[in-house]
Amino acid sequence: MPVSASTLRDIFGAAFTTDPAECLAYGYDNSRRQAQPDAVVFPTTHEQVVALVHACRTAHTPLIARGRGTNTTGATVPVDGGVVVSFERMNRIVKIDADNRLAVVEPGVLNGDLQTALAAQGFFWPPDPTSSPYCTIGGNLACNAAGPRAVKYGSCRENTLGLRAVVGTGDDLRCGVNTTKGAVGYDLTRLLIGAEGTLAVITQATLKLTPKPAAKATLRASYADVAAATAAVARIMAQPVVPCALEFMDDAALRLARAHAADAIPATGALLIVEADGDAEDLPRAIAALSVAASGAGLIELRSASDAHEAETLWAARRALSPALRTISPDKINEDVVVPVSRLPELIARLREIAARHSIPIVNFGHAGNGNIHVNLLPRDATEHARAQAALPEVFAAVIALGGTLSGEHGIGLAKRDFLDQALDPAALAFMRRIKAQFDPDGILNPGKLLPP
Ligand SMILES: Cc1cc2nc3c(=O)[nH]c(=O)nc-3n(C[C@H](O)[C@H](O)[C@H](O)COP(=O)(O)OP(=O)(O)OC[C@H]3O[C@@H](n4cnc5c(N)ncnc54)[C@H](O)[C@@H]3O)c2cc1C
Repeated sequence: MPVSASTLRDIFGAAFTTDPAECLAYGYDNSRRQAQPDAVVFPTTHEQVVALVHACRTAHTPLIARGRGTNTTGATVPVDGGVVVSFERMNRIVKIDADNRLAVVEPGVLNGDLQTALAAQGFFWPPDPTSSPYCTIGGNLACNAAGPRAVKYGSCRENTLGLRAVVGTGDDLRCGVNTTKGAVGYDLTRLLIGAEGTLAVITQATLKLTPKPAAKATLRASYADVAAATAAVARIMAQPVVPCALEFMDDAALRLARAHAADAIPATGALLIVEADGDAEDLPRAIAALSVAASGAGLIELRSASDAHEAETLWAARRALSPALRTISPDKINEDVVVPVSRLPELIARLREIAARHSIPIVNFGHAGNGNIHVNLLPRDATEHARAQAALPEVFAAVIALGGTLSGEHGIGLAKRDFLDQALDPAALAFMRRIKAQFDPDGILNPGKLLPP
C-alpha cells in the first residue's frame, strides 16, 4: 500500500508530486538504470523527514533518499517504487565555524557551493569528486565519495565529525561530535557514511574543515609503459612527502585525453600527474623529493607545469576522460576498484590479460596514490556487451586476489551488490545484515541496494 497523497499533503503541503511524468525524472541516475517512483517529495525540514519515515513504515512503502542522482551504481533507482526524497530544497549551509574548523550543512548543499563558501574563509572540505559542481553533500556522505585529494586528505569518513539522521524506525539519531577528538562509544557516524541511504536518511552533517594550502605545484611524469608508471607510484608512496594528488592514465586513456588537449598530453605509454601543496617556501623541497621518487626505469619525461593554466589544462584533460568514454561506449562499465598500491603493476597486467582474452577494450586511469583505479570496460555492441559482462567477474576476482576491494569511492548500489559476498568475510556480511535489521527493521530504506538479497 503506497503512502497516500493526502498523507504527503499533510506533511509537505504542495512540495510533492505524484505526476508520473514528473516522477520519471527522479527514477534514474548516472548508472542509466531507470524505474518509476510513486511519488517524489521535497523536504525542507528534519521534522518532515521524520513524519515521512513514519508514514512509509506504516504503509510498508520504500523510501529512497536522493541528492542529484549522479551516482554510478543505480543507488537511487527506486526498483520497488515508493517515495523518492529529493533533498534539492534542503540546501542551507547552516554555519561555518572557523574557530572550531567545522561547517554544519543540510544534505542538499552542492559540494561545489560548499567549497566556494569555505574558500572565502580560507578553508576547504577535502572530498572532491569530479562531479563537485552538481552532487550533494548528502550523496557524498552516503557513498563515501572522494577524488584526487583523498590520497593526502582522506574521504568523507575522515572528514565528517557528526550527523543528524532519521533511521528506518522513524527515530531521530544524532551521532558523532562537534570536536576534532572524541572517544565515546561506537562510531555510528562512520557507519552511516557509505551506507547508501540503507540505514538512515541524513538530514544534517557537521563537517571537518581543512585550511586551504597557500601554494600548489604540479608535475607531469611520462613513462614508456604502464609497468614503469605503476612502479613509480609505489616509490612515490614509499617516501615521506605525501602528494595531494597522484593520478594515473594508461596508454588508451592518454589517446582519449590527447583528443581533448593534445598539447598537454604526451603520446607515451602511461602518465602520472603528481601534485604537492603547502607553504610556498616548502614546496620546492617537496617537489624535489617527489621528482626523485618519480624517476626510474621507463621514465621518459618529468616536467613541472609552468603555470596554473598549464596545470589546469592537464587536469581538464583528465576530467574529460569519463565523458569521453561515453562517446565510444554509451554502455561503458565503469568500475572503481582498489588494490594496495604495491600491487598496482600486477593489477594493470591482469586487466590487460582479461581485456585480451575477452577481446574487449579496457581503459584504466584514476587515483593511483590510493590504489584506486577506474577500470572502464567499453562494449560497443550487444556482442561486446555480453563479453564485457563475462569479463567483469574476472576483474573483481583479480582485485580481491590482490588484496583489494570492489569500490574505492562509487559504492555498491545495485551494480556490485551481487559481488559483495566475494569481497566480504561471511561474518562481516552477516553482521551487516543484522545492523540493517536494527536500523531498518521493515526494510523500507533504499531496498535492494548494497546488500545482496
Ligand atoms: C561526471 C561524474 C564524475 C564523478 N566523479 C566522481 C568522483 O571523482 N568521485 C566519486 O566519489 N564519485 C564521483 N561520481 C559519482 C557521484 O557524483 C558521487 O557518488 C556523488 O557522491 C553522488 O552525489 P549525489 O548528490 O548525486 O547523490 P545521489 O546519486 O542522488 O545518491 C547517491 C546515494 O546517496 C544516497 N543519499 C543521497 N542523499 C542522502 C541523504 N540525505 N541521506 C542518506 N542517503 C542519501 C542515495 O540514496 C544513494 O544511495 C561522479 C559522477 C559523475 C556523473
